[in-house]
Amino acid sequence: MSTALDKKIDFLPGAGSIRAGLLNTELGIFTYQDLLEHFPFRYEDRSKFHRITDLVESMDSAQLKGVITSINKLGEGRRQRLVINFTDNSGTTELIWFQGIKWVEKKLNIGGEYIVYGKPTVFGHAFNFTHPEINMLTPFNTLTGGFKPIYSLTEKLRKKFIDSKVIGQMTENALRDLGNSIPENLPQNLLEKFKMIPRYQAFQLIHHPKDFSHVRHALRRLKFEELFYNQLSLINQKLLRKNEFEGHLFTKTELLTCFYEEHLPFELTGAQKKVIKEIFFDFKSGMQMNRLLQGDVGSGKTIVSFICMLMAIDSGAQCCLMAPTEILSIQHFHNLEKFANQIGLKVALLTGSTKKKERTVIHENLENGNINIIIGTHALIQDKVKFQNLGLCVIDEQHRFGVAQRAKLWNKNKEIHPHILVMTATPIPRTLAMTLYGDLDVSVIDELPAGRKPIKTVHRYDSRRLEVFQFIRDEIIKGRQVYIVYPLIEESETMDFKNLMDGYESITRAFPNNALSIVHGKMKPKDKDFEMQRFVKGETEIMIATTVIEVGVDVPNASLMIIENAERFGLAQLHQLRGRVGRGAEQSYCILMSDFKLSKESRKRIDTMVETNDGFKISEVDLELRGPGDMSGTQQSGLLDLKIANLATDGKILTFARESALEVLDEDPDLALEKHVMIKAFVYEKKVNRLNWSRIS
Ligand code: ADP
Ligand code: MG
Repeated sequence: MSTALDKKIDFLPGAGSIRAGLLNTELGIFTYQDLLEHFPFRYEDRSKFHRITDLVESMDSAQLKGVITSINKLGEGRRQRLVINFTDNSGTTELIWFQGIKWVEKKLNIGGEYIVYGKPTVFGHAFNFTHPEINMLTPFNTLTGGFKPIYSLTEKLRKKFIDSKVIGQMTENALRDLGNSIPENLPQNLLEKFKMIPRYQAFQLIHHPKDFSHVRHALRRLKFEELFYNQLSLINQKLLRKNEFEGHLFTKTELLTCFYEEHLPFELTGAQKKVIKEIFFDFKSGMQMNRLLQGDVGSGKTIVSFICMLMAIDSGAQCCLMAPTEILSIQHFHNLEKFANQIGLKVALLTGSTKKKERTVIHENLENGNINIIIGTHALIQDKVKFQNLGLCVIDEQHRFGVAQRAKLWNKNKEIHPHILVMTATPIPRTLAMTLYGDLDVSVIDELPAGRKPIKTVHRYDSRRLEVFQFIRDEIIKGRQVYIVYPLIEESETMDFKNLMDGYESITRAFPNNALSIVHGKMKPKDKDFEMQRFVKGETEIMIATTVIEVGVDVPNASLMIIENAERFGLAQLHQLRGRVGRGAEQSYCILMSDFKLSKESRKRIDTMVETNDGFKISEVDLELRGPGDMSGTQQSGLLDLKIANLATDGKILTFARESALEVLDEDPDLALEKHVMIKAFVYEKKVNRLNWSRIS
């Protein structure tokens, strides 16, 4: 089905084949729709003059009319700059040039009247403008033009005189040509409920607003539309899959009751109970579960997964727990083995370093059903690993494993696919979860076990290292253990490695009477584990490491985490590292060390860490700083190709869009109702995951 919007821009009045060809190749604009969806990325407000006293920092741009009172050249050589004092009758501001000084100097006169246009920035207590546009005030240019959309363009287009003004004219012509033939694609009740403007008007106002209020109305409507269709297709996929695969039924509760009554080492938190209930509901549904379990570091996901395993085992199924590293697998093994032994279950560990003989025995016992729970690294997904009846796969720390690996585990029981529980300790903002994992059900543990003392975090410059060393000494005297972490990032590996070794040496010198461990990525897994275990057992007091200890390691007696070159770590990573302490009853500390010189972003990251322990808040800031495309785990996903909505800032609209999409599909999963005709039509027109809409015929 094609609509008026599919018309080629070659037919656009004023476009012509040459311009159309350029827009095709330079911007990928072929149709009216492509053109109308090439949204302005900012606007210039030249509809009025601002007074200097009325300037505020949040302004994108301001236009001033006034007089030059002085022109000064300051600084020498490459640092030279031209500083002009500019005044209207309300106040004074500085105009500054670092380049083209001679040319600007020649053009301007003290006492002359000018129009200035640019972005005001705060410097000390006053505003200044760096490299503004400046033009002599003449009877002809008292006001230089209204409210203008600015479009992203290429150098080649500019050379051919296709600028924002030309694009603006083209969108105007397109809109005039289309008139009312742009079909509305949101039902009337949604437009009314959220007070949104019609689609045609939204296109009109996004390209040709009179002021910012027009832009806001248009944005709200267009973002909602985009997110609504995005969610509609995700939810639809989820519904399809849910009804597609039969799941193991786990309904027996004897083992569980026994464990609860006799062995549960602590009272579960409310949040743990809540997610266990959600998972049990899936176990009883008869459908295969695909669930993401999100919970901040230390929120107690491991015990939740064990309790779920008990349900599976009671009904005769086997379970596996896959972790991203050997260290983590071993740790999980030790923890779960303890519980399992109490109730007579058999647990085994399978990693890359499991000896061949032992491996053969494990393979056998998995196939004949003697092993109830197998724990390991991706050694688990090898074809040789076969189960008698795999019923539940738990995958710890999702972002390290790909979807393909998930699928391999899933296929280890071809009769009835196992339930999948993915656990991640990298909290991601709700908005991102809704889009990235829109096809999984999500459970959240949003509460830490009682009695945990929040970790105290401080930032210290390298110059205060001696003080920090003293603090380490004090903690060790109290019987605590200490982590010192160095960055090791692949591109600069050799330098980082030297840095780590230098650090190790200086710590050895500063702490001659203490036992140290060192763990880094260049060591053999066996040696790594040996060192790690020494630290776990309390034989060493200081653990010097790279980020290999980032994920999951649990040493409750460690109360101090020092992070060297903290400015080089991402926020999620810093938060993960900090989560290694604060696991015992004692007060824990995290010290972020850095150089004096910090970029604005590094400072923001460090400040955020000092301010809050809340992983979800931290992930919001991370999203804000990096944008959705760079968050861990998002790269491979094409789901983030949004044209106008921004997951970092449009969380509220996304929530409304998701709720609305859920309501629509809940009432009318096949979009068969009269009032949903336009939605159905648009789904086809957009080919929104068309294959997945096969039910709609
Ligand atoms: P994570 O969610 O980061 O994987 P873990 O499962 O490793 O967290 O749990 C962290 C620590 O908290 C473990 O030592 C665990 O035994 C303990 N723990 C878990 N749940 C509770 C609880 N409800 N009360 C007290 N301690 C708990
Ligand atoms: Mg964990």
